[in-house]
Amino acid sequence: MLRIEHSVELKNKTTIRLGGCAPYYAAIRSKEDLLDFAEQEPNMNLPFRILGGGSNLIIADASIHKELPFGVLDIDISDIEEIQPFKPSEAEFLPPLVQKKLQEGHKNFTKVTVGAGYKIPKLLQLCKANGFTGLEGLAGIPCRTGGTVAMNAGAFGTEINDVLYETEIFSKKTGLRKFSRNAMRGEYRKMHFQCGEKETEDGIILSASFIFPAVNAEEVQNKIRENYFRKKNTQPLQAFTAGCVFKNPENENGGKISAGLLLDKAGMKNTQVNAMRFSPVHASFLENTGNGTTKDALELLALAKDKVLTLFNIQLEEEVKIWI
Ligand SMILES: Cc1cc2nc3c(=O)[nH]c(=O)nc-3n(C[C@H](O)[C@H](O)[C@H](O)COP(=O)(O)OP(=O)(O)OC[C@H]3O[C@@H](n4cnc5c(N)ncnc54)[C@H](O)[C@@H]3O)c2cc1C
Repeated sequence: MLRIEHSVELKNKTTIRLGGCAPYYAAIRSKEDLLDFAEQEPNMNLPFRILGGGSNLIIADASIHKELPFGVLDIDISDIEEIQPFKPSEAEFLPPLVQKKLQEGHKNFTKVTVGAGYKIPKLLQLCKANGFTGLEGLAGIPCRTGGTVAMNAGAFGTEINDVLYETEIFSKKTGLRKFSRNAMRGEYRKMHFQCGEKETEDGIILSASFIFPAVNAEEVQNKIRENYFRKKNTQPLQAFTAGCVFKNPENENGGKISAGLLLDKAGMKNTQVNAMRFSPVHASFLENTGNGTTKDALELLALAKDKVLTLFNIQLEEEVKIWI
């Protein structure tokens, strides 16, 4: 039977260490847990939010609410369900990287299915050991599979959509359901799930399958190491942050402008409100240097948006999800 806890502090469940007291909290470790929760949910009287690794979240704390106006479902199903050879000829729809590799004459592919709570650093270990290519850009990101799919996270020209093949999702309307490749569309920091004519907005990702082209293991190891050091040299990986807080805005040609560069030019690096500051290393990373509060974080976000709008006439949009 699923245990639902009450009055749970969320601060240590986020990488930026911001978050107050959730009226209810349930750690979902299996599909049965989730079905159990779905039965109990109507008695909760408050909506819930879906928590993954907490690496892209700013959650209200006591500086905003005594108690949060929502409960939290922590999706922590962290098993490997399947690793097996994959024949692209037997599939109707394929992820973009698999299509590209097939055109290049590549023949060796593997399907890997993991629970939504499976940590991306662990998935990269698996990729390193077996020479599975496609996710090397995610090196150094402390997230889980479910959150990474939901956000279509990526870096250095790659994103999880490149190798995503199938997801299993629960939603109140559709129940438990598999989404195959043709029902999923990855855009910049968002994955869309199409269910018939409509998009599934409130879906809880329970597992994800990836198709990895298998290459030389050393090649994958080198790429992961290179990407990790590239990040480590330009981003505050050891600080309490939520990654880049703003999306990179589009220029007139549909390309991207670096939000970090705009914020740097606007003088935001090292700008501080109490214990929250924009990182001196990368201007799009907000850091909690100690006892920072959500109120301070929101003040800094508003200040940064205001400055960039005034100086460059560009409206920045948050990449980080704000739960108020
Ligand atoms: C040091 C650092 C570096 C980072 N670098 C990058 C980077 O290079 N590229 C990049 O894209 N991001 C980066 N990020 C941001 C972050 O890691 C990604 O957005 C990641 O995908 C969030 O995953 P998570 O599991 O932590 O999700 P969370 O932060 O817990 O949640 C993020 C969103 O996903 C939803 N969600 C989570 N799990 C599920 C689920 N099972 N089903 C449905 N929805 C779910 C949540 O409701 C929320 O809306 C970085 C963060 C840090 C701290």
